Amino acid sequence: MPGTRVRVPLGRSHVIGIVTALSDHSTRSIKPIDDILDTAPILKEDLLKLASWLVDYYHHPIGSVYAALMPTLARRGSSTEFDPPLIWLASKTPIPTSLDRAPRQRLLWEALSNAGPVTTDEARKLGATLPLLRKLEQKGVVASQVDEANYAINPSDIDPTSEQAAAIRNITGQLDQFGVHTLYGVTGSGKTEVYLRVIENVLKQGKQALVLVPEIALTPQTTARFVERFGAAGVIHSATSDRERFITWTQVASGAHQILIGTRSAVFANFADLGVIIVDEEHDPSFKQTEGLRYSARDVAVFRSQMLGIPCILGSATPSLETVANVVRKRYSMAKISERPGSREMPTFRIIDIRGKHLNGGLSEPLLIAIRQHLINNGQVLVFINRRGYAPTLCCSRCGWRGECEACDVRLTLHQSPKLLQCHHCLRRYPIPTACPDCRSNEVVALGAGTQRVEQTLKKVFPEIPILRVDRDTTRSQTQLQSLFSKLTNPSRHILVGTQMLAKGHHLPNVTLVAVVNADNGFLSPDFRGPERTAQLITQVAGRAGRAERPGEVCIQSYDPTNPNLVALTESGYDGFTKTEMEHRRMAQLPPFTVMAMLRADSSDANESETFLLQLLAIVETFDLEAMGPVIAPLARKSGRFRHQALLVSRRRSEIQRALHAIETKVPSQNSVRWSIDVDPIDTF
Ligand code: ADP
Ligand code: ZN
Ligand code: ZN
Repeated sequence: MPGTRVRVPLGRSHVIGIVTALSDHSTRSIKPIDDILDTAPILKEDLLKLASWLVDYYHHPIGSVYAALMPTLARRGSSTEFDPPLIWLASKTPIPTSLDRAPRQRLLWEALSNAGPVTTDEARKLGATLPLLRKLEQKGVVASQVDEANYAINPSDIDPTSEQAAAIRNITGQLDQFGVHTLYGVTGSGKTEVYLRVIENVLKQGKQALVLVPEIALTPQTTARFVERFGAAGVIHSATSDRERFITWTQVASGAHQILIGTRSAVFANFADLGVIIVDEEHDPSFKQTEGLRYSARDVAVFRSQMLGIPCILGSATPSLETVANVVRKRYSMAKISERPGSREMPTFRIIDIRGKHLNGGLSEPLLIAIRQHLINNGQVLVFINRRGYAPTLCCSRCGWRGECEACDVRLTLHQSPKLLQCHHCLRRYPIPTACPDCRSNEVVALGAGTQRVEQTLKKVFPEIPILRVDRDTTRSQTQLQSLFSKLTNPSRHILVGTQMLAKGHHLPNVTLVAVVNADNGFLSPDFRGPERTAQLITQVAGRAGRAERPGEVCIQSYDPTNPNLVALTESGYDGFTKTEMEHRRMAQLPPFTVMAMLRADSSDANESETFLLQLLAIVETFDLEAMGPVIAPLARKSGRFRHQALLVSRRRSEIQRALHAIETKVPSQNSVRWSIDVDPIDTF
């Protein structure tokens, strides 16, 4: 049956395939199937339909699309009939004497008894192996039981506000039909509460719910609230092991899990009977896959909802301009949740003009004064700078030498602990030169500022204040991020320095000042989405701060203080920003007023990728679209390969689709250029 996995001979090897259709004849001679791996289709009919939509929409090969739809173990042919997952629990007795002469078992027992009930995977992280666990079980000091998802609807004592109630009523009144409902509300306005109420109604109908979240850092609190309300929830994110992922995927397919919370790829999960899709923080760029099948999980969610005839909810404090445009065109409904429960005030904004001002490690005097003032008033301060490392560039002030990666055309970032230079594109590391490699002078200096340098400066200026740094170098896991944030829940004075990792997750009620070190890179970015992303980040970071009795302040340093986008944002918030930016996009004929597709090519020869793109553009010469390029890619050389790109732009999606189809069918044969199609690209520069 279509959707079933089979093992088939291919050339000299044997591979796993998916049956896509049946036919009773063949014009070629074909080999018999070795083995049928599933007794029932592993991919349900709606996923097969979704796969063909993905092939058409993203112009991606079908085999690769199926691979993206399935978890690794499903792809490798693992059986969907596995032993049920177990929960392990140490006995409550004092340290059992039976472990006296087994130090490893004793250590594990202690770890388990501290941890409380854990899954097998969690136990492994505590140092367990299955045989070790079984041994402890035989000795009667650890017990195991099947980990069943026990769903129940627990009542909530929250009274929805009138805005929440209206949104809930509107969506639950249309559960049996497709519709995209946007929920526009600042962080903490109660969007999640609306999701929970809608899901409650979906579960009561015996259907399932899918909740997409942007990043792993968001999932622990989100998950906890869902589990509290509904007894259980399946969770899939990037740190989920292959085995856990496969188990959850299978339980969602069987209906054992009624709720799935997951990052991007969860949009492809196999559901028994899906009743609603919720995309939280729909504007988040992490929903777009930028390699292989370059899909937008938000757009796939909307299409999948349409295909299934169910509602799709897009929630955000800073909706993407695409979504705003769809609301204006009345394709999507919009519910605004303006008031925060308990009516917290929004922070006030101030632009700090740093033209001609001396900067101390990236920080101006007025900003340092503001920081000091808030600390004196016992507030916490959040310093936001979207660049990790110590400084973006190391250069020689004598001859102008700059540290650059040998494989990529980018400057190396200077890191202070450990001391090294690193390429943030290919991750190659280099030692820091003691003298200039070109002129041998000692005048090698760090230019610009990253999180490490700002941290160092603040340590010097405020030696008595604890400083926490949050970036990919200090904070690798969600547990680390959680423990950092938990330090900030008590109202002691702290400075928090971090990258966009800070824009997500917890509300930080004791933060009274948000300092944005540099907004210009974003507002003046050559990427047309730069201003949108910067406005979203600033709004989100600002939303972390303050509470009813302590409204926050946001200070933004800028060399371009009259920038219309920046002024609109600070004077009338994200709404004001969308107005100026939407007008700019319309004038410049950029999305959401046009549709784009990016063609990218790279090769080890500098000319070859450019020539190849020229050949592709020649194919679509007569089409009703604008072809831009080929140009050298923003990152001209990556890992030793030269990169070019060309952009197709049209007012009509159908024309872009037709052009890409023509390109696919007429692409010149060659084998040294790697190339790709990116429909609705998010990185155009
Ligand atoms: P969002 O998802 O928009 O960030 P949440 O739904 O997480 O907002 O709500 C923020 C906080 O306010 C949560 O602690 C939630 O329990 C609480 N909350 C939400 N709605 C209400 C309400 N109507 N009355 C009181 N508290 C509420
Ligand atoms: Zn030099
Ligand atoms: Zn590099």
